[in-house]
Amino acid sequence: MNSQAPLFNRLALIGVGLIGSSIARAARAQGTVREIVATARTAETRRRVAELGLADQVVESNAAAVAGADLVIVCIPIGACGTVAAEIGPHLSPGAIVSDVGSVKGAVLREMAPHLPAGVHFVPAHPVAGTENSGPDAGFASLFVGRWCILTPPAGADATAVDKLAVFWRALGANVETMPAAHHDLVLAITSHLPHLIAYTIVGTADELADVTQSEVLKFSAGGFRDFTRIAASDPTMWRDVFLANKDAVLEMLGTFNEDLSQLTRAIRRGDGEALFAHFTRTRAIRRGIVQIGQDSAAPDFGRTHADLPAEPLPRPYAAADE
Ligand code: NAP
Repeated sequence: MNSQAPLFNRLALIGVGLIGSSIARAARAQGTVREIVATARTAETRRRVAELGLADQVVESNAAAVAGADLVIVCIPIGACGTVAAEIGPHLSPGAIVSDVGSVKGAVLREMAPHLPAGVHFVPAHPVAGTENSGPDAGFASLFVGRWCILTPPAGADATAVDKLAVFWRALGANVETMPAAHHDLVLAITSHLPHLIAYTIVGTADELADVTQSEVLKFSAGGFRDFTRIAASDPTMWRDVFLANKDAVLEMLGTFNEDLSQLTRAIRRGDGEALFAHFTRTRAIRRGIVQIGQDSAAPDFGRTHADLPAEPLPRPYAAADE
């Protein structure tokens, strides 16, 4: 990519948290844009973005950020996208591509599209990549490598603009797929939103039980609970907005989930080991499939490092028995 001319002249980033700052770092590293102009809601984040050198210019308003930009990416919580679209609409350059990174697409499309003028190409996107951390320090250039970026262009979207945005995301290392917004929201409800809801629930329940078990929940967390806590540490604002914005699809998937949970509950109550074994065998194969298609590491325990065996000899009575 570096030896080629940049795809875009000026990239405007509105919001420079985990996702925005990762885009800035990756776009710089790959030479996909000639210049980056960035802004964030608070003066504190803008100062930090300037300190980190993530953009060529850090400006104070959304309107100033988009002036003269041929690519605008809105990287803020979903619930704020409509307001920001209304703010930037009158300042967008004709022919500019406007995109976002929101984890729900139908709501973003509905909220943003009415504010964008004719002659501007709106191509919503969702990079399916992230961590539980937030803010401009949390981002890194390789976040999107080998991950999917889903584009959800509205009907009648300009094919050249869609292709150009796809090339941009591929340059950042992502695999790109295009689908309707409603389909995206249904798929993500089961692959991402429901797992987060379950993690938030189980960690909350265990926290309430902690009073009863006197912090044994934390002590023995490696039994499975620990892996839920990573997901449950995800940003509260972002996830509040996801559930508000994707209400219908999440409720539909939750209905199916509750039925399946009832079946497993019944199997446990009846001592139906066969049903439990069959279910767990099926789910183990799904995990192996995810590893096979390169969407997770095959390393045991998510690649966590494990301490070596103690170097000290065994305590006295056992050592004595060996001699
Ligand atoms: P983040 O690290 O918390 O950063 C959010 C950015 O949005 C910050 O620059 C923040 O500015 C700004 N912001 C917050 N509230 C705002 C408002 N009301 N109006 C305007 N700007 C506002 O969040 P993120 O993880 O990058 O997530 C951003 C978007 O990416 C969300 O829509 C999310 O759905 C999507 N996404 C996230 C992930 C993930 O794993 N995190 C993955 C894929 C997609 P200040 O710092 O100045 O408040």
